[in-house]
Amino acid sequence: MKRSILITLAIAAALSCTACGSTDSGTTSRRKFASAETTTAAPTEAAASAYEESTTEAASEEVTTTAETTSSEEETTTAAAVETTTAEAAPAGGEAPAEDVIKTEAPSPEDADYAPAPAKHDIAGITYIQGALIANKTYSLPADFAPGLDPTCENQFYKMTNDASKQGLYIYFASGFRSYEYQSQIYNNYVARDGQAVADTYSARPGHSEHQSGLAIDVNSIDDSFALTPEAKWLADHCHEYGFILRYPQGKEDITGYQYESWHVRYVGTDLSYAIRNSGLTMEEYFGIDSKYKD
Ligand SMILES: [Zn+2]
Repeated sequence: MKRSILITLAIAAALSCTACGSTDSGTTSRRKFASAETTTAAPTEAAASAYEESTTEAASEEVTTTAETTSSEEETTTAAAVETTTAEAAPAGGEAPAEDVIKTEAPSPEDADYAPAPAKHDIAGITYIQGALIANKTYSLPADFAPGLDPTCENQFYKMTNDASKQGLYIYFASGFRSYEYQSQIYNNYVARDGQAVADTYSARPGHSEHQSGLAIDVNSIDDSFALTPEAKWLADHCHEYGFILRYPQGKEDITGYQYESWHVRYVGTDLSYAIRNSGLTMEEYFGIDSKYKD
């Protein structure tokens, strides 16, 4: 009974939150994803300076994407460096950056509104680029990686929603960390109902959901109706001030691999949230990576 309620809830949540939600696969235990760590960035304590370093480095460096390396487990996936970090640069995907991104300066570590990057997990099988964990259709997470909701992410989320409430806006937590197993359950239900090919179009495979990283949060109604609310506008305009990015923007479906999700934010810390925001790019474009299943 409980179980079926859970499943129903899961389905409801996943239905609306594709990227977030869903699925993966049958190919679940697909060969280990190469990724070891691409550590351009250092341990989070040093995040601040590390970031600066890596960002600068990255800017001038050419991205050597390591897709090939992915096949050997031993190999550490090297990080693709940032390909384009400036707003002038045309996004890889063709779509122009959102109109007039107003650039704002990221807070320094001494500032009260500085938010550090999330703690890094020293676990093989997780891909990091410049200290940022990557989970998309190309880069998966190990099945046993179950960190729960990141505490910094959680604190920053509530700081954000508290500030929003001062504007009379009600932004609430709807869904955060989801385990590999939970995602599998959701996905398998979809596959049973619609077949894998169809399920894959609206649901993330297990291991590929950003929610498994503990760094993603869905807010409010988790559906398209949210996009029309003042809360959604405020979130899109201000989430970077708290270290979040709107992970799946409108018109970037082919790049992020997911439909527009006005309700899904990803925590990265203010160094990166401002950098990505100011670039007008998606996370994939910013790092010069793709988001596609291998099969
Ligand atoms: Zn989500």
